[in-house]
Amino acid sequence: MTTSAQQILQTVYGYDSFRSQQEEIINDVISGQDCFVLMPTGGGKSLCYQIPALIRSGTAIVVSPLIALMQDQVSALQTNGVSAAYYNSSLDAQSAEQVLSQLHSGQLDLLYVSPERLLNQTFIQRLQSLPIALFAIDEAHCISQWGHDFRPEYRQMGALREWFSQVPFIALTATADRATRQDIIDKLQFHQPKIHVSSFDRPNIRYRVLEKSQPMKQLLTFLESHQNLSGIVYALSRKRVEEVAEKLKDEGINAKAYHAGLPAEIRHSVHQQFIRDEVDIVVATVAFGMGIDKPNVRFVVHYDLPKNIEGYYQETGRAGRDGLASEALLLFGMQDVATAKHFVENVTDEEQRRLENFKLSSMVDFAEAQTCRRNVLLNYFSEPSHKPCGNCDICLDPPTLFDGKEAAQKALSCIYRLEQSFGAKQVIDVLRGMDNERIRNLNHNQLSTYGVGKEYSAQEWSSILRQLIHLGYIYQDIQNYSVLKLTELSGDVLKGKTEIQLAFPKKSASKVTRPGKK
Ligand code: ADP
Ligand code: ZN
Repeated sequence: MTTSAQQILQTVYGYDSFRSQQEEIINDVISGQDCFVLMPTGGGKSLCYQIPALIRSGTAIVVSPLIALMQDQVSALQTNGVSAAYYNSSLDAQSAEQVLSQLHSGQLDLLYVSPERLLNQTFIQRLQSLPIALFAIDEAHCISQWGHDFRPEYRQMGALREWFSQVPFIALTATADRATRQDIIDKLQFHQPKIHVSSFDRPNIRYRVLEKSQPMKQLLTFLESHQNLSGIVYALSRKRVEEVAEKLKDEGINAKAYHAGLPAEIRHSVHQQFIRDEVDIVVATVAFGMGIDKPNVRFVVHYDLPKNIEGYYQETGRAGRDGLASEALLLFGMQDVATAKHFVENVTDEEQRRLENFKLSSMVDFAEAQTCRRNVLLNYFSEPSHKPCGNCDICLDPPTLFDGKEAAQKALSCIYRLEQSFGAKQVIDVLRGMDNERIRNLNHNQLSTYGVGKEYSAQEWSSILRQLIHLGYIYQDIQNYSVLKLTELSGDVLKGKTEIQLAFPKKSASKVTRPGKK
């Protein structure tokens, strides 16, 4: 068996050797075992079911949610001389007929099917009358509500096993935390599955997080040192994508916008231009993602906070597929956290809300981490690692801690004086003794804490407040315009009973001012 898998690898694909895990997975599937495969994007998941499909008799059914991806895969297989087809809503009646007749006459080694076509009752009956080599469920995280990309059309997939009890199943995904993993296995009713989890470490990607302040300027500074390199800038909304892309173009940078609101032709052409290195930078929403297999993406910038670590990891993972040094830069601001929390609070389903809250706070924890970022990421994916990586901002420039007791007291008493009714901006303006209309109208210049915090800049205060939130001394009331409020721990801080260590904020690589130096 193994020799023939090896032969196929060479003759069909033209590769010399298997990558880590591929061979074990292939052997498991060939021998009829159910497999769960968690492997990062670009790791080589496709071969894990394609080679067994060529070795086991019958047709392999591959379920994939993305029509464009199916087409790419099928044409790549056909180019390699493999008999493959796809069956989805993009086919006209005649082509669909043709595919079905190929299926029935046993000509197909692989058939890619969309979930809605597959789960159609007549199609299932059709398959039951045919020899099926295996079922491969690609993007298997879509089956789980615990995942970050649940798709209702995947919901019924669990029933497949009942109709095909003798056929091996292989579920593949690049993104699943422990809970999602178990949920996928349960939903698909796997029999004693073999679980293959590859390392998620991408050692050539350097992770960096900057306090977001004047993000456009921060982005331009970053791009100055990355000229003519290929990169992606992710922003949260279509509007923001347009704005940032325009601004970059104004600066003479070869950038284009990409989001789901653009016509398909434009999206396609931006994608193609990016792949062919005709466009340096794509500013995009997360819609620009699946299916980008470009080796030389040198950086990924997150202009806004991603919703969860899975998304962040996948998006940053588009950098450095060629193994060469690459960068992931996240601009992290308190306002983004407030906005994201607001979204989460509006989720009506309680369990879903709890879950999204957890995912968001994990993302925030990552951004606020004072320990190796890679370790935080890998730990999140249940791959514990304690050795500092040496290739993230924290490892390269460990934060210096300072005695934050006095700063914390000032901040907390200011919030108290403001009757816990104002957001971070106003708290900072009062602390810094700003003289503006709002301050005057509200008589905030009469408060005892007015101007007691002039030693720190607005950005530094912003960082201090964020750290105090993270430490649980204050919180943002999401129900109420994100006003800052005290917690049960605040009292001891105000009384000076709590020792507080804070990290100096990192604002930009070039210009780091250290607060507290008088
Ligand atoms: P995934 O589905 O995990 O994102 P793919 O299956 O698309 O990854 O594989 C990513 C790339 O790596 C493809 O270009 C594929 O041909 C290549 N690849 C996969 N396995 C091997 C191998 N054993 N040797 C060399 N290249 C490989
Ligand atoms: Zn590190």
